[in-house]
Amino acid sequence: MSHWQCIQGLQVAIDGPSGSGKGTIAAMLGDELGLPVLDTGLLYRYMGWYVEEHGASLDDENAVLSMLGDAVAVMDWRADGIFVAQGNEKKDCTSLLRSESAGSSASKVAVMPQVRVALLGVQRDIAKLGCVMDGRDIGTVVLPDAQAKFYLTASQRERARRRWSQLKAKGEEVDLDSIAADLKARDARDIDRDCAPLEKAMDAIQIDSTTMSMDDVVDRILNVLERRKLITKNE
Ligand code: C5P
Repeated sequence: MSHWQCIQGLQVAIDGPSGSGKGTIAAMLGDELGLPVLDTGLLYRYMGWYVEEHGASLDDENAVLSMLGDAVAVMDWRADGIFVAQGNEKKDCTSLLRSESAGSSASKVAVMPQVRVALLGVQRDIAKLGCVMDGRDIGTVVLPDAQAKFYLTASQRERARRRWSQLKAKGEEVDLDSIAADLKARDARDIDRDCAPLEKAMDAIQIDSTTMSMDDVVDRILNVLERRKLITKNE
């Protein structure tokens, strides 16, 4: 059982660059608060994967856009991952979407405004009943009225190190320098794009987690939520 009582429909938005700890923090918070955790990065990873799986290049914007409707129609995105209809079955694609290459493909389709628009309604609908949602544009575009917004950062080196150890733990053979280079390229694509770039919402609280433990970050967020009376401790 959750340790906290949340206000009805509480939406907590968590944004930040790759490796800032968003996913881990969102999962820990969701657990504490008893709220579904929605990882929007998975949606963009799925889009990139779907396009390549159907033989198109991510550089071919027309091909990507022509596949959008079908891609959304066969997908079921939930707190426990992404499931894709195949005949009468729903295949769980979550773990294959977590690879480093899927992340890179995601940031290529994520620059296309029509892709973002197609995914906006999906994200807003599922968030209605309350959630912890993490991504790049949650506080700015997807849930501008979220009651609490956090923007997580960490130094580029530390973020690369975290990605490296996560992938290593999964058995992927990866080189720290190439992870760092990929992260830098991804940061640039996410920050410099015209449509819904990665940026801190004006009313978001920024937390630099470079030298903080994940537990400390979660405590800090819970503290803010409690002070704002968005959550109360269960007796
Ligand atoms: O968070 P994750 O690394 O899974 O995201 C993969 C890519 O998807 C990001 O680099 C970014 O380009 C894109 N993305 C986005 N907007 C979001 C979530 C992810 O553009 N809300």
